[in-house]
Amino acid sequence: MSAELPYNLFSQHLREKFGEKVFKVTLDAGFDCPNRDGTRTWGGCTFCDASGSSAQVSPPSTSLSEQLEVGMAGWRRRFGDKARKFIAYYQAFTNTHAPLDRLREVYRVGLEHPDVVGIAVGTRPDCVGEPVLDLLAEMSAQKYLWVEYGLQSAHDATLLRINRAHTVEEFIDAVRRTQRRGIEVCAHLIHGLPGDTPRMMLASVDLLARLGVEGIKIHSLHIVKGSVMAGQYLRGEIPMMSQEEYVGWVADSLERLPWEIKIHRLTGDALPHLLIAPEWSRHKLQVLNAIQQEMRRRNSRQGSALDVLKC
Ligand code: SF4
Repeated sequence: MSAELPYNLFSQHLREKFGEKVFKVTLDAGFDCPNRDGTRTWGGCTFCDASGSSAQVSPPSTSLSEQLEVGMAGWRRRFGDKARKFIAYYQAFTNTHAPLDRLREVYRVGLEHPDVVGIAVGTRPDCVGEPVLDLLAEMSAQKYLWVEYGLQSAHDATLLRINRAHTVEEFIDAVRRTQRRGIEVCAHLIHGLPGDTPRMMLASVDLLARLGVEGIKIHSLHIVKGSVMAGQYLRGEIPMMSQEEYVGWVADSLERLPWEIKIHRLTGDALPHLLIAPEWSRHKLQVLNAIQQEMRRRNSRQGSALDVLKC
C-alpha cells in the first residue's frame, strides 16, 4: 500500500523496521500539565479538554500495567495473533512533568514489557530539562524511542491566543537539544487555529522541515466539550474549516516536507463523544482518502514542492 501512497507513512516504516504491523497503546500515567497546574499558567490550551488531549480509553485510575494489557488485548481481539508488537504511547497531559524518580517508574512499565518494541513520550517543549533528556537518551539506548512535542503553530501570536504558554523559540531549543542526543522527534501541528492564515500554517510546516524533525502529526482544529474553545465556538467566535480546505492545506503541507520526515498522523483522534465540530473529522478514512486523492489529482507527493521552492 505504501508504495502507492504519496507520503511517507510512519506505520509503514514501523512495519519495515519490525517486520510486521506494530500497534500503539495509549497510556495515561496520571500526570498533570504545567499549563494547567500553575507551573506556567492556568487553564490549559484553549482547545484542550479535561482529559489532556488524550485518546485513552481505559480509565486513568487503572494502573499503567493494566492499561497496557487492556490496550494490547483490544488489538488482539481485532487482529488476532497478528497483534504481537506494540508501542507504549505516554500520551495524556505532559509526560515529562514529574520528578525523575517518578518518570523512571512510569517509563519502566513500557521498557520492561517484552511485547513493547518502542516507546513514545508526548510532552511540551518547556518540560525537557537536561536531566529529563539524559533519562530519555538512556531509554533510547534500550528501546526504540520517540519524543513528541506539541507546537501547534510556529507563530507566537497564535500560541498566545490559544494559551500555549510556551514560545516558538522554546520549541526550537527543545528540538535541537533532543536531536543532539540522537532521539527522534515528532512535532504536532494543528491546522485551522484561530489567527493562523493558510500562509502562516505553511510557515509552521516550513519551520519543521528546516529543523529536520523526524516525524510530524498534523490534524485539523477540533472543538471538544470541556475546552475553552467550545464556548468560543458556540458563541460564533471560531470559524471552522471545511474538509476541502483542510485537505488542500494538508496536501500543500506534505508537498513542502522532505520525504525522510515520517508522517505519523493526518487526522485527529478526539474521543467521538467529546467532539463538537467539525463533523466531517469523525470520518478519518474519508479524510485520508480525500488527501490522497487530492495529491494524485495534483500529481504531487511529499516533498514535491521543495525543488520549486529552492528556485
Ligand atoms: S494540550 Fe497538552 S499542553 Fe495544552 S493544556 Fe492540554 S495537556 Fe496541557
